[in-house]
Order: sequence, then C-alpha cells, then structure tokens
Amino acid sequence: MSESTSSRAPAAPRERISCPGCGRHDWVTWPAGQDIYHWKCFNCEKEFDLHRGGRH
Ligand SMILES: [Zn+2]
Repeated sequence: MSESTSSRAPAAPRERISCPGCGRHDWVTWPAGQDIYHWKCFNCEKEFDLHRGGRH
C-alpha cells in the first residue's frame, strides 16, 4: 500500500538562510508558525536564533 502524504500535516516550508557568523547559505526546514529558528551552522559551528523574514 502506498501512503498518501497529503493527509498528513502540511510540509514545513523550506527557507533559505545565511549564517550571521560566516555568511554560509543553507536551506532549512522551518516549521510553519514559528518565528524563530534555532540553527547551528555546520560550517563555523556557531549557534544562532534566526528570525523569519529577517533577511535583507
Ligand atoms: Zn557559520
């Protein structure tokens, strides 16, 4: 049997973020309705609280 994914919780949007420390870009799965995403950079290994829509 194949499992339908459409009946499950909506997929979290993929957000493009950039590391405030080293500028590295990455794509993360950012849960809907969550304004702050705690992220650890795999490149410089620092941790940040990223704010949705804070890119500019
Ligand atoms: Zn970094």
